[in-house]
Amino acid sequence: MDRDRPRCRLPLPAGRCRLRIQHRLTLSFIVVAGLSTVVSGFVLNRTMGRQITEEIAADLRHHALLARDLWREEGGLDEVADRLADRIGEDLKRHVTIVAADGHVLGDTELDGDLLAKVENHASQPEIRAALDRGEGRSQRYSSTVAEEMLYVALRIDPADPGAGVVRVAVPLTAVRRAREAMTGRIVFATLIAVVAAALFGLVAARGQARRLEALANIASQFARGNLEARVPPAGHDEITDLGRSLNRMADQLEERLDLLGRERNQLRALLDGMVEGVLLTDAEGTIVLANRAFERIFQAQWPLTGRRPLEAARVPALQEAVEAALRTPEPLVREMVLSGAQEKVLRASLAAIREGGRVVGAVAVFHDVTEIRRLEQVRREFVANVSHELRTPLTAIKGYAETLKHGGLDDREQAVRFVDVIDRHAQRLRDLIEDLLDLSSIEQGQARLRPGPVSVRDVAVQAEGVVGEAMRAKRQTFSLAIPADLPAVLADRDRLAQVLINLLDNASKFTPEGGRITVTAEAGNGQVRIAVRDTGVGIHPDQIGRVFERFYRVDPSRDRRGGGTGLGLAIAKHLILAMEGTIEVESVPDAGTTFRITLRRS
Ligand code: ADP
Repeated sequence: MDRDRPRCRLPLPAGRCRLRIQHRLTLSFIVVAGLSTVVSGFVLNRTMGRQITEEIAADLRHHALLARDLWREEGGLDEVADRLADRIGEDLKRHVTIVAADGHVLGDTELDGDLLAKVENHASQPEIRAALDRGEGRSQRYSSTVAEEMLYVALRIDPADPGAGVVRVAVPLTAVRRAREAMTGRIVFATLIAVVAAALFGLVAARGQARRLEALANIASQFARGNLEARVPPAGHDEITDLGRSLNRMADQLEERLDLLGRERNQLRALLDGMVEGVLLTDAEGTIVLANRAFERIFQAQWPLTGRRPLEAARVPALQEAVEAALRTPEPLVREMVLSGAQEKVLRASLAAIREGGRVVGAVAVFHDVTEIRRLEQVRREFVANVSHELRTPLTAIKGYAETLKHGGLDDREQAVRFVDVIDRHAQRLRDLIEDLLDLSSIEQGQARLRPGPVSVRDVAVQAEGVVGEAMRAKRQTFSLAIPADLPAVLADRDRLAQVLINLLDNASKFTPEGGRITVTAEAGNGQVRIAVRDTGVGIHPDQIGRVFERFYRVDPSRDRRGGGTGLGLAIAKHLILAMEGTIEVESVPDAGTTFRITLRRS
């Protein structure tokens, strides 16, 4: 234990301890009691001193009157003055002096003979002067002769005639001094008693209030530390209770406000985290203050983000540069940035500085992932280019052959028939292309009205084989159908499912060399029916397999176009199957064969 450390009730900075309120109150009691005892003692001392002095002065006056009367009776002769002064002084134990009107001392209790003759003139002494002027005088002063404070009272010998001289009686104020000394001793004693009593009383009386105040201080410091659960127990009816109630009310309101703030903060956080767009907030120095989950995800930012610069958090120089530009620029900014990585991302960032009273206090940035939009724009551009290209080839051929015919080609009948054939073939291809395009767009836009119902997979497969069988037989390909007799019906549009299977079988036949094998199998499970169309053909390279469902995608464009394909068959098949709430996948091994798998719901 640290013995030197003062013991405090309240937690205070190290090494310091506040005087407890109980002790403070006690100390004030002590000071008040001590001071009041000392002051009243002092006043009493002075009053008492004054009173005793007054009493002595009254006595002295009587003695002076007595001395005056005696001297007058003696005839008021100068020769008897000293004797009289000695006698009266002896009897009354007083110092009597008889002074002539000119201040010359005629008689004195203490002085005789030579000494009396040499004594200084008393005319200047205040009590003598006052007696000569007004008939009576009094003075109190320190006498070095007796080393004591003396009280002097002087009277005119003849009240009506100042020329008759003055009689003065004096006495040392030893009694007054002693009385005051005794009084001072008592005052000191009384002060001590008062101080001890005040200390005891203070300790007892202040304890209760001090404890209550300390409890309040304790609760207030708990509030300051964040514990708003603490409450002051309601007791009493005084100001401390009111203060306690106010503290409790304040804590209630604080709790409510903190709750509200917390709720608002959570709502804001949920809103920000629910956003698809990345949001970033920085302070005026560009340090991150807030970032949502989408931001973390888009930039693969390293946690924690707050308190770091964007470059440290996301390692994207363009982001750092954009934030700095936003803080510098008065107008909002829009930037597009490309994030390289496993998957390239294109971001459109909107940035703006936040101002308060004309001062930049931070910046806010919103990031939209426009990768998909840019990809779709690219797809659209490619699609337009592809369509134009696909249409131009047959049109060029038609125009070429038609012009040849026009410029004399008709004369050679055999050649003319061949040319017309070519024109017809290309026209047919144009029609196929346009029909496929229209079909695809109507399926994509949900305009191709599908009529789903229970459909037998076997029936549809047989129907498809009926369409493609000719081509397969021409290439001496073996076709087999392995569909269990009890296979449940699927929920599909019969004609559209047939269209898909025809397309798959047609492709299988086209991309399988002569003598190859093509199989259609089907099985049920988990409320679904899985159909597979397998061939032992050329297969599709793994790099290209992901693209076969794209429009106009052909593994080998020149060869496939010659084969009459539009490159739209699988795109149409995929959209049809999706419209029937099914899935279509492909797997393939180059030079070994390809399998297309369709999953549809049981009806
Ligand atoms: P097309 O009408 O030109 O056949 P598809 O959309 O049906 O267009 O097919 C797209 C491309 O996928 C084909 O050009 C071909 O390269 C490839 N393909 C489709 N089916 C097979 C298959 N069974 N074996 C090998 N390649 C295939």
